[in-house]
Amino acid sequence: MTLQSILDEIRERPGKGEVIPIIDPVTEEQITEFTDCGPEAVDEAVARARASFESGVWQGLPGRERAKIMWRIADLMDAHTDELAELDSLNTGMPLVQAKMIIPTCAEFFRYYAGWCTKLNGSAYEVQMTGGVSGAYADMHAYTLKEPYGVVGLIFPWNGPVFNACAKLAPALAAGCSTVVKPAEETPLSALLLARLIAEAGVPEGVVNLLTGYGHTAGAAITSHPDVDKVAFTGSTEVGKQIVAASAGNLKKVMLELGGKSPVLIFDDADLDMAVMMASMGIFVHSGQGCVCGSRIFVQRGVYERVVEGIATVANNLKLGGPKEEGTMIGPLISAKQLTRVMGYLDEGKSDGAEVVTGGHRLDRSGYFVHPTVLTNVDPATSRLYREEIFGPVVTVLPFDDEDEAIAMANDTSYGLAATVWTTNLSRGHRLAKRLQAGTVTLNCQLVFDHGVPFGGYKQSGWGHEFGREGVEAYMKTKSVWAQL
Ligand code: NAD
Repeated sequence: MTLQSILDEIRERPGKGEVIPIIDPVTEEQITEFTDCGPEAVDEAVARARASFESGVWQGLPGRERAKIMWRIADLMDAHTDELAELDSLNTGMPLVQAKMIIPTCAEFFRYYAGWCTKLNGSAYEVQMTGGVSGAYADMHAYTLKEPYGVVGLIFPWNGPVFNACAKLAPALAAGCSTVVKPAEETPLSALLLARLIAEAGVPEGVVNLLTGYGHTAGAAITSHPDVDKVAFTGSTEVGKQIVAASAGNLKKVMLELGGKSPVLIFDDADLDMAVMMASMGIFVHSGQGCVCGSRIFVQRGVYERVVEGIATVANNLKLGGPKEEGTMIGPLISAKQLTRVMGYLDEGKSDGAEVVTGGHRLDRSGYFVHPTVLTNVDPATSRLYREEIFGPVVTVLPFDDEDEAIAMANDTSYGLAATVWTTNLSRGHRLAKRLQAGTVTLNCQLVFDHGVPFGGYKQSGWGHEFGREGVEAYMKTKSVWAQL
């Protein structure tokens, strides 16, 4: 399997809409192009998924057989780590070493969820009521069955193409669903290779249907489709709301993993060297294009100046560059559109009086590179760059005096994806973990992840959970069965 064969495959994929170029974010040159899939292609993909679901070729297999095939997918991914990493790296500009570290974690989704295939059972209930129409409830038996949702649409963004695909496909397949999969229009390449590996591993035809195209065409046709039972979406809060509206037609179920504006609280008793390094990487890694990036840092006043200076120093020492350039630590933004968006926030912030400690500009070279940026002196009540998700390497740092003030500032947001506390006072850490309005709280660590630990957003950061038992149950429905004994 070669890179070129994937580039050729996408160019030759059928589609009836606009031609979509794929741009290398490092050179700004076109890598290849493909044709948008519109409603007709979506209808066909949904029909294939429905036929495969109803035929039982996948959902009807014993869990242990599905598990074996999922292990094979993971083994094939391991065997093709280099190609998958190269495609993601080419497509997103992320450093190749970083992409190579991520792919084994992605393969692990299939092994983790393969384990669940044999454990997706319902429960038996002891019926408590007596009387009723038959007058003999005590002689009844009730139990639940766990059943796959059916045809599910999986839609995800560009920031971690293989990761996002596996995070959705592995639990959906473990549950026995048939799928219609749409990666981001900017980054469809690795999904093509993944789809080939899934077929090679033995997942029957029609169970995984890959569609490539824009959100407003292919994506919207999936979310409004009357024969799609559920949509699992990762992306922006704005599009999440559109998906909720589009799903109303057949009241399809919706799972949403959305945006964030995650707070990081650094107390004066923290291990400051570690806190500064991790808080810096927690926003600048992947050029700030991570949903859990800590884009609002709050520092206890006594150590505020020292922390601001420390984060600025880390920012200035990060080497930005192309995936294969010597010593690259951080890649570019994904697209010209994202660059314009990030620079728009920065220009507005500067004219509103934000103080630029470092950064605030794009690099003088090809590619969508923005210098890691540290801002202070922003007005929490009015600053758009403080309140809205930027999805770029931009962090605001503000001081606080005590726990109550820190919590009030941290929770003053419509988002609730993640939050971090840096302190050596463990009682305080756990006390604040309860008070922070976020689906994930990390104490003295950042950028942590495990396939088994549930992940989901509070407030406008999402509905439902991925990963762990919750992650596979999201693709299953519960049926109650009653029997008169
Ligand atoms: P986006 O919402 O613009 O697009 C995400 C996906 O949705 C793409 O595949 C896109 O084509 C599709 N889409 C767009 N409009 C659609 C529509 N009307 N109907 C159906 N599908 C549509 O997001 P983005 O800019 O590509 O990605 C960045 C966003 O993703 C950020 O907000 C980030 O926080 C979020 N994100 C969240 C998580 C999480 O787990 N919570 C993880 C990664 C990224």
